[in-house]
Parts: sequence; structure tokens; C-alpha cells
Amino acid sequence: MLEQYVKKILTSRVYDVAVETPLQPARQLSERLGNQILLKREDLQPVFSFKIRGAYNKLAQLTTEELARGVVTASAGNHAQGLALAARELGIKATIVMPRTTPELKVQGVRARGGKVVLHGDAFPDALAHSLKLVEEKGFVYIHPYDDPDVIAGQGTVAMEILSQHQGPLDAIFVPVGGGGLIAGVAAYIKYLRPETRVIGVEPDDSNCLQQAMAAGERVVLPQVGLFADGVAVAQIGAHCFDICKHYVDEVITVSTDELCAAIKDIYDDTRSITEPAGALAVAGIKKYVERDGV
Ligand SMILES: *Cc1c(COP(=O)(O)O)cnc(C)c1O
Repeated sequence: MLEQYVKKILTSRVYDVAVETPLQPARQLSERLGNQILLKREDLQPVFSFKIRGAYNKLAQLTTEELARGVVTASAGNHAQGLALAARELGIKATIVMPRTTPELKVQGVRARGGKVVLHGDAFPDALAHSLKLVEEKGFVYIHPYDDPDVIAGQGTVAMEILSQHQGPLDAIFVPVGGGGLIAGVAAYIKYLRPETRVIGVEPDDSNCLQQAMAAGERVVLPQVGLFADGVAVAQIGAHCFDICKHYVDEVITVSTDELCAAIKDIYDDTRSITEPAGALAVAGIKKYVERDGV
């Protein structure tokens, strides 16, 4: 399985729209924690997150006939913007169903990238149901935000860049987890090439679907999820994602909302950038890990 994913990652098409982001030393944090800490600056992508990698790679693998039908997804977040930009780049139609409660900023983010926004329902499940109805009625192709091998492979290009940008020893890579597309791609690539490097997932303690699935040995559905880190508020880990994670993720750490807020400030101190809460998960996880294990 790993070899197949590594082949998919190496042949992924992402750089028509994504950029190779810097792997940047976090000087103050490194000093404070007594470890060399590097930040992979995916906030510098054109849609401010890595989602453009998976979305574009998925579209690039579709047939001409599928592309002509147009694509659809349900998302209130970064996947929506990634898909809209990817579709515009390929000159195809993208319809994004968003719950009516979606902040105007995110609706505009999709429209500004040429996506057609359909506001439907009060919560994500309503939007999802409507997007699947559009698949039936209009023949659109549904593009999943994480549970798809081509999306996972696109996200895995993050790990490919990390290994080429940092050639010395690497103790561990901390990866934020929502539905598990990013960590699945990273784990597949890293465990094939550098199995000694630990791959550690980080989740909010009130939205820990991967940690609970790993403990149960199967995918569980969380009865409710915390919304502070809205980018990772997912109730069930993806099936393709879990197939990889259950074998290749070394452990999952959870952090509190307070720890996330502190990590947002740590990142600001080192970079002068303000991340969304999900974007600070990995730093919150690293701090906890260093403190716990005294590395
Ligand atoms: C989507 C997203 C995640 C989680 O990615 P998954 O592939 O769903 O696990 C983490 N952080 C940000 C900023 C995201 O947009």
C-alpha cells in the first residue's frame, strides 16, 4: 500500500497552482523548547492552506468527460476555496454548497475564486445532502475534502517537500488532523522513505476522531465536535485515511483550546503571522510532546 501511495505522490500534479512553501526555523520557540523546530508554511499557499494540493491533484486525474460535467463539494472552509481555485485553473465549473451559517468572509473567498456558491441548510450535514442531490440531478462529480486516494496523494506532496528541504535527521513530524487526508499522505511518504521519523497527529481534545478510532481499532463517529478549530471539526476519520493511519501514525496527541491559543501566539512571535486555530495545532502538539517526554 505504501509504495502505491508514494508513486501517486511522486506523480501528483500540484504545482500548476500550489507553491513549494518554505520550511522555516521557529527561532524563539526552538530556543525555548531546546529543540530545533521547523514550520512548514502552508499558510503561504494561494488559498492560505494546503487544501489546494489535494483538490488540484484530484481534478487533474479526472477524465475530460468528467471535467466537462463540472464538480461539486460541500464545505464551509478551506477545501471550498481550494476546489474553487483548482477548478478555475482548469477552466471547469465548481459548485460549492455551504451551510447558511457560513461566515461571509468564506463565502466571498469562494466567489472571488470563481466558484458558484449555493447556500443550503443550517449545518454541514444539510449542505452535504444537498451536494449529493446535485450529483444525482446535474451529473456533477463529487470531490471529497479528504477521503480520496488522489486527495491524500496531493496532500502528501507536503512530506515530499519536507524531506527534500531538510536532509539531516528528523525526529518527528507533527500533523494537524481533521478528516485525516493530510496525515495519511504524510505518513505514507515518510514511513516508506524514513521509517525512523515519527509521524504524530494532533487534534483538539473535543474533536479527536483519529485518536478515538486508533484506540477502538475502528472508525468511530463522535457524538459532537468542538468548533473552535473549525478547520478540523470532523466527526469521523476518513476510511482511506484510517487504512493508512492505523498502521503508520505513531501516536495522536490532543490539546485544549487554551493550548491552541498559546500556540497561535507562539507562531505570531516567530513569524508575525496569525494562523487560524487549526493552523496552530501542530505547534501546540510539539510543545506538549517536548514537555511530556523531556526530549
Ligand atoms: C483541512 C485542514 C486541516 C485538516 O486536514 P485533513 O486532511 O482534513 O485532516 C488542518 N488544518 C487546516 C488549516 C485545514 O484547512
